Parts: sequence; C-alpha cells; structure tokens
Amino acid sequence: MDQNKKGIVPTMIDAAAKATIETHPVRRNISVLEGSGGNIAVLTGKDGKLLIDAGFTVSKPRLTEALKKLSSDPITQLINTHWHTDHTDGNAWVHDAGAAITAHKNTKKHLSTSTRVEGWQWTFPPAPAGALPTTTFDDEHRVHHNQTNIALKYYGPAHTDSDISVVFEEADVVQVGDTWWNGIYPFIDYSTGGSIGGTIRAAERNLSMVTGNTIVIPGHGPVGNKAGLVEFRDMLVAIRNNVAALKKQGKSLEETIAAKPTAKYDVKFGQFLITPVFFTTLVYSGV
Ligand SMILES: [Zn+2]
Repeated sequence: MDQNKKGIVPTMIDAAAKATIETHPVRRNISVLEGSGGNIAVLTGKDGKLLIDAGFTVSKPRLTEALKKLSSDPITQLINTHWHTDHTDGNAWVHDAGAAITAHKNTKKHLSTSTRVEGWQWTFPPAPAGALPTTTFDDEHRVHHNQTNIALKYYGPAHTDSDISVVFEEADVVQVGDTWWNGIYPFIDYSTGGSIGGTIRAAERNLSMVTGNTIVIPGHGPVGNKAGLVEFRDMLVAIRNNVAALKKQGKSLEETIAAKPTAKYDVKFGQFLITPVFFTTLVYSGV
C-alpha cells in the first residue's frame, strides 16, 4: 500500500479494519492485544478489565471477541497513554461498554477540540463526549485495580505533550506508549508538543525505570525488554547526531535525505509506517 498517496491515518484505519487481533499473554493477569493501531494492554480480574489504550473503533467486534476470550469480566477502566487516534479512537465504545477513562490532562485537551497533526496531514474533529477522559492528572497518578498497584507518570513533552508511562508494580510490567516503537522508526508529533529531543529524553527515562526482569510493552511492535529499549535509544541518538551534523553544515532537507543519515538502521527499523525518508524529515525539523 502506498501510504504517501493514501495518507497515514487512512492507512492505519484500513490496516486495523483487516487485521486479526492477536492476544499475547504477558505476566500474571496482564495480556496485550495487537492489531488495532497501538498495542492494548489488558489487566483482568474481579474489579473488571482495565485496558491501556483503545485502538481504532473499526476493531470493536474483533476486540470484543478477544476480550471475551480472556475472561468474562466486564470492562470497567481505560487508561490512555496519549491522545493519538490509534490509541483513543475506540474510547467512545469502550466507555459505552462501562469504562471510566483516565489520562494526562493534555490528552483530554487535544481530544476536546479540533486538532491538526501536520506530520499526518490530518485534522481531527473534537471527540464525542463519552470518549473524553473523566479523570486527568498533571504529573503522577495512582490506580489500585484487581489487587494491582498501577503507577502513571507523565514524561513531559516527548512523542506528544500527553505521553505517560504505566507501571504494573507487582508484575514488573511497564507500558511506555509511543515513547517506544519496538524495532521500527517512531512517529514524532511536533504539532502537539513532540520532538526528537523529547523522544530521546523519554527513551532515557524508560531505561532508568526498568531492570533486566521488566517486561516492556511498546506503543507499536512486539512486547520487549530492556535490551530493546537500549537499541532504540542508541538508534535515536545516532540518527539525531547524524542529521544535526548535516544540518549544521548547511544542508537542506533534500540534501540531508540524499546523504542517508539513517542508512545503518534502515533494514531493521525502516520496515513499517515511518519510512527512512519520513523519519529523517521528522528528525531534521527538530535539530
Ligand atoms: Zn502516538
């Protein structure tokens, strides 16, 4: 599919409309559902299911079925890792199914109004009332659910200005949202406060939060661990440095792209939505 002609947002929705939802058990009562935009973590138990992110609305029938297979508990809580549509488009139906929604205050801010994402060449209308978070926070927030302590913490501006980490403390599992794309170049949303510098700072913080035993759930890509976070951080820093050096020499964006500052990493990281040319463009605008 040619995403450049079609646009990234329709490409993501079409992919979700066709995708099978895969369920990956993670640890204890935590699983990940993959196939509807961003990864969705699910904590099951007698208090009802707690979801981290809601994917795309087009996946509702397949997500509903996958959730039923995990357990018969109703959905009672939803936490958004950030405001982007591939993580929040499903908020309205998940709320209708019974979930209260928690997120960073900037997630609510962006969902409440018409928001343009230049990098996607797309303007999102305000979300319906039921899709809006009803509990918001600024820096930190704690949730106790299904005998699990869950710590939410704001990254500061990173991939957007609304990103939070979600730590399941007893399980030693952390969901880091779109501050980590496992094995793929990340999108960076400059329109709502993201930057390459903020993305690198978040990657460093992720490393400071985990041990070799921690299971890490990325926003996109397979569930991973500390080694994957190190590789991602090193890739970001190397490409940032390469692009910054070229820009400092006075090279235009076109000349910088032609110099292939991502070449060493393209085989591994350049195989998804964010192509080497697009990632170079995103880094160039932030150095
Ligand atoms: Zn995102």
